[in-house]
Amino acid sequence: MDLSDRQHQIVEIVKENGPITGENIAEQLSLTRATLRPDLAILTMAGYLDARPRVGYFYTGKTGSELLTEKLKKFKVQEFQSIPVVVSEDVSVYDAICTMFLEDVGTLFVVNEGAYLVGVLSRKDLLRASLGNQDLREIPVHIIMTRMPNVTICYKDDLLLEAGQILIEKQIDALPVVKDSEQGYEVIGRLTKTNLTKALVELGRDQRV
Ligand code: ADP
Repeated sequence: MDLSDRQHQIVEIVKENGPITGENIAEQLSLTRATLRPDLAILTMAGYLDARPRVGYFYTGKTGSELLTEKLKKFKVQEFQSIPVVVSEDVSVYDAICTMFLEDVGTLFVVNEGAYLVGVLSRKDLLRASLGNQDLREIPVHIIMTRMPNVTICYKDDLLLEAGQILIEKQIDALPVVKDSEQGYEVIGRLTKTNLTKALVELGRDQRV
């Protein structure tokens, strides 16, 4: 996080004099306590300072990169997931290709009549099916998809870093975010490499600190 000059000054004062009350920090800077309040709130929220009731502010000793890493480790799938695009297992490869273009996604999730997850279709799955001379309107996607139980899933409360690790290990682009039910997995989201890139960029730009 880019600290303002005043925030830097506050950190230095607390480093040298902490624990120190907000009142005393304000005095040292010849400012009012009220003027300082937003800066103290930001520094506390960002983890540079900690506040103890009736004791005052003290320096946590954490560097900017330590604080960013802590933040990254707390990110959950839910905060970054996208809307899933699903197709029924009976649609044709042709229609699945159209859906992929129209919805502008690289992975489709395939569901059964009850809307529960039965498979995954990637771009290459559809390209492979298009290589022969078959009529793509006649081939249902369930013939070519990666099917359960071989589909790797994740949950909205999973850590983003763990989901990212799975994408790397399995060499896939997307995970369906699912909810358990007795009949199967309900697809509630889509976690892709793009979502992970967004998390990284957001963290770098520090919009969440
Ligand atoms: P592409 O094939 O377009 O490069 P992927 O790398 O995501 O996209 O897919 C590679 C293979 O892995 C495909 O056969 C696809 O069906 C399968 N696959 C994709 N996502 C998953 C998943 N979540 N679980 C299991 N298999 C998957």
